[in-house]
Amino acid sequence: MKFKPADKIQDLQYFGEFGGVNPSISDSSTYTFLSAKTMFDTFEGNAEGCYLYSRHSSPSNLYLGEALAAMEGTEAANVAASGMGAITPVLLQLCQAGDHIISSRTIYGGTYAFLKNFAPRLNISTSFVDITNLEKVEAAITKNTKVLYCEAVSNPLLEVADLPALSKIAKKHGLKLVVDNTFSPLAISPGAMGADVVIHSLTKFINGSSDTVGGVTCGTQEFINELRSVNDGASMLLGPTMDSLRAASILKNLRTLHIRIKQHSHNAMYLAEKFEQDGLRTVYPGLKSHPGHELYKSMMNEEYGFGGMLVVDAGSLDKANALMELMQDRNLGYLAVSLGFYKTLFSAPGTSTSSEIPEEEQKEMGLTDGIIRMSIGLDNDIERTYNMMKDCMKEIGILEGSRSKV
Ligand SMILES: *Cc1c(COP(=O)(O)O)cnc(C)c1O
Repeated sequence: MKFKPADKIQDLQYFGEFGGVNPSISDSSTYTFLSAKTMFDTFEGNAEGCYLYSRHSSPSNLYLGEALAAMEGTEAANVAASGMGAITPVLLQLCQAGDHIISSRTIYGGTYAFLKNFAPRLNISTSFVDITNLEKVEAAITKNTKVLYCEAVSNPLLEVADLPALSKIAKKHGLKLVVDNTFSPLAISPGAMGADVVIHSLTKFINGSSDTVGGVTCGTQEFINELRSVNDGASMLLGPTMDSLRAASILKNLRTLHIRIKQHSHNAMYLAEKFEQDGLRTVYPGLKSHPGHELYKSMMNEEYGFGGMLVVDAGSLDKANALMELMQDRNLGYLAVSLGFYKTLFSAPGTSTSSEIPEEEQKEMGLTDGIIRMSIGLDNDIERTYNMMKDCMKEIGILEGSRSKV
C-alpha cells in the first residue's frame, strides 16, 4: 500500500495547555529549570523533553516539526525561518571544505546561487547535471562527493527526478540524497523512496497563504540532532530559527493542505488539458506529452494529482508580459513570484532564474523566452477561469481569434 501522508498528519493528537483544540503557543525565548543539574544535562543534550533556548527548539516549533516529519514519513524534522534557512544548513552540515556536491542544474535560483557563488568560498564545489540523465549523474561522482541534490519536481519546466533510481546511486556510492519537495507536498513522498533528507519551503503550498516565509528539514533523528547541536550544528549556530507564533499558524494551515492540493491539482489539470487542446505549448506533469509523466505516475500518491504548477508558452517575452498584465487586470491572478497561494500567481522565469544554464542547453530543454510559470489557485469554477484566460489570450494574439497583436 502507498504511503498516506495526510492520514499520518491527521493521526497526531494535540491538546493545548488548557485543553484547547490547538496546542498552546510557546511565547518564550528562554525556559526555567527547577534544578541546575537539569540545565546542565539539557546543554549536554541529555534531558529529553526539556527546553533550553528557543533558537535550539521550542514547543511550537517541535509540534510543527512533528507534523511535517509525519507527513514525510521521517523520524524527525527541524523547522527553519525560511526554505533557504533549511537548505543551506543541511548542505553545510553534510559537507566540509574540499567536499563536492552533485546537483540538478534545474533548481531554485537561491539554492543555485548558494552552490555556485557562496559554497566555493568554503571550498565546497558543485557539479550541475541534467538530473534526468542517470548516467551523467553517476559519471559526475568523484571521491569527494558527499551529496546528491535535486528537487522532486523542478523549476521551471517541472522536470521529474527519478527518486528510486537516484537513491540507488546515492546508496551505491555512499552519498546523501537530499530532495527539495516544495513543488509536490503530499503528492510525492521522497523519504519513502529512499531520500535521506527531505526539505520544503513552507512559504509555498504548505502554509498556502503567502503571509510568511518558512522552511523545514525532515530526516533521521540523528541528523536532526546534528543540525541542532549546540557545539557544531549548522541550524543552531547559523540561527535561522522560526518564530513560535509563525510555527503555530503554519501548523493550523497544514491541516487543510490535503484539500488544497487536490483542488490546485484539479484546476491545473483542467487548464493544462484545455491549453494543450488549444494548441499552446503546455508543460504539466499530468499531460501525456510531459517527458516525466509516466515517472511521476509511478511515484505519486495518486489522490493528490500532478500538482498546482503549470507552464505555458506565450511565444515571446512581450506576449508573455502582456498576457500576465491583462490577466491581472481581469483579476485572474497576480503577477508575482512564489507559489501555493489561493489565487493564481504568474511570472516569466524565461531568462531570469535559469540564465545560468548555457543557451544551447536552454533551447534543448525547451526553456524559451515566452514561458509563463503559473501556480494555479483554488478557483471554485475553473471552467469560468479558463474561459476568461482564453479571452485574454485571444486579445493578446496568442490564440486564434485575436483582436490585437503585441
Ligand atoms: C521558494 C523555494 C525555495 C526557497 O524558500 P524560501 O522560503 O523562499 O527561503 C527553495 N526551493 C524551492 C523549490 C522553492 O520554490
